[in-house]
Amino acid sequence: MAGRIPQQFIDDLLNRVDIVEVVDSRVPLKKKGKEYMACCPFHSEKTPSFTVSQNKQFYHCFGCKANGSAIGFLMEYEHLSFPEAIEELARTQGIEVPYEGGQRPDPAIKKAQTDLYELMQEVDKYFQQQLRQHPQAKSAVSYLKERGLSGEIAKDFGIGFASDSWDDLLKTLGTSPEREKGLVTTGMLIKKDNGKCYDRFRNRIMFPIRDRRGRCIAFGGRILPSDTPNTDKEGAKYLNSPETPLFHKGRELYGLYEARQALRDIPRLMVVEGYMDVVALAQFDLRYAVATLGTATTADHIQRLFQLTTEVVFCFDGDRAGKDAAWRALQTCLPEMRDGRETRFMFLPEGEDPDSYIRKVGKEAFETEIKQASTFSEYLFKQLTDEADISGIGGRAKLVEKARPMLSQMPEGIYRKLMFEQLEKLGRVELSQPGSTGITRTNRAKDRRQSTTNAKTQMSPVRKAITLLLFQPALALAWFKKNNDAELTKLDLPGMELLLEVLEILRNSPDLSTSALIERWRDTPTANHLATLATWQPELDDSKALEIEFSALMDALKKQAVDLRYDDLQAKLDHGTLNEAEMSEYKMLLQQIYNAKSASKPE
Ligand SMILES: [Zn+2]
Repeated sequence: MAGRIPQQFIDDLLNRVDIVEVVDSRVPLKKKGKEYMACCPFHSEKTPSFTVSQNKQFYHCFGCKANGSAIGFLMEYEHLSFPEAIEELARTQGIEVPYEGGQRPDPAIKKAQTDLYELMQEVDKYFQQQLRQHPQAKSAVSYLKERGLSGEIAKDFGIGFASDSWDDLLKTLGTSPEREKGLVTTGMLIKKDNGKCYDRFRNRIMFPIRDRRGRCIAFGGRILPSDTPNTDKEGAKYLNSPETPLFHKGRELYGLYEARQALRDIPRLMVVEGYMDVVALAQFDLRYAVATLGTATTADHIQRLFQLTTEVVFCFDGDRAGKDAAWRALQTCLPEMRDGRETRFMFLPEGEDPDSYIRKVGKEAFETEIKQASTFSEYLFKQLTDEADISGIGGRAKLVEKARPMLSQMPEGIYRKLMFEQLEKLGRVELSQPGSTGITRTNRAKDRRQSTTNAKTQMSPVRKAITLLLFQPALALAWFKKNNDAELTKLDLPGMELLLEVLEILRNSPDLSTSALIERWRDTPTANHLATLATWQPELDDSKALEIEFSALMDALKKQAVDLRYDDLQAKLDHGTLNEAEMSEYKMLLQQIYNAKSASKPE
């Protein structure tokens, strides 16, 4: 394990790089006023709602709420880990990343990682070549032709062939002990107890699985139908690469890279079961199908899908297993059902898969069925009302009991509100919506309003103080010149702890940009909260005026702290439980309050 990267280095690095450059070299930006804009790279849109602020060194999308620093952008866009993103930024600045405890990541490890990608690229090429050249490949080619696949689609998806041999791949690519080791690590070879290796994929049509950047990270292999029944125990119809350092099946979707290549705007993404379905649908020019890889749909999958489109369609078999899978998928979707997003559930007639069905009915009818498939709300309420007889009170109670915790998982917004209204109608009850917090209650319209108006009335002083600090972190320094935060620590108000935390960080590192500040909360819910506050813009961007406003807010908070402490001590005094130290504090506060009152009295 490499040591931690010192916070100071991360702060300095974020001070050196310009997020506008980092983003612009990947997503061309247009300057608009003080900010830079583009169509969001993380969700599908036609009018730009993705903004990059040079001042705050921060990006934010008003559509999908993606946000973060230059580090966050690289992680999300380039699909990098946190240390990798820092390495990448440091590289552009020509500086080296220090690691605490002197434990630099072994450069050999990074090299090895790169080598694995290169090795997989060779494997990918090799399988494709085998499909064209290997004498056994004839049966594979005729199988693909039977399924109606053109050479063009086979090429788009990089379909290949693994011969019926225990060591073809091993002999061809495992030409050194290091390469053999790499092939084991990537799951292409299996190592036996006696140390000998053999090919994992044999006599299979090979489907390369690509990551976001199009790199081959794993394979799915479909066994070839043969006259002699395959007796070896790995003769499963479909075989996927195991989990490897490159491949995590809960995160990857087969066909997603290819869909992005084929379509400029992705109208919807459809989740099907197998890679052959994805390819067969592509052959019918339906290029938006993707498949999970031997796993149920995960939250990661759903998030990734909604980053690229606003409509996700699940296509399942019409049997019991398909219905169960659909219900599980619906539940995974709940936290992602924001306004403007839709999910549909489509069930195929029994005995059909997407491949056979589109062949039978054609693309047009297939797409009509997609468009008519049950929406999220239709499917959810249909399932629940099928289970409970809502003509009676008992059934309605059961419905509400079951639906309420589900709907509560939805993010705040109109969609969720309408779902609750529907539930009230069906259950014939009035419900107070649980789980509402002021912090997360945002919708696009409100965000817009907050970004243009002061929204003074909607914010508590604590929240406003944090907001001002996010807009202009230098406010902290000016304030600390004349004050200390000790008086505030006693104030038990919502958000106070966070405000003190922000102040403390800025006291120690006064030069932090907004994004570097928010970086400190990486991977916590607070980061999102702060990011929302960071979108606020003052009506008049005048740093002196902001300093005065901030100072006034802090004074008010301090006064509140004094008053509360005074009340506290007064109560103790009344009960005769005041000790000596508290007594002198009490006298001091009394004096302070008296002074403040006489100072504010008009002459
Ligand atoms: Zn977006």
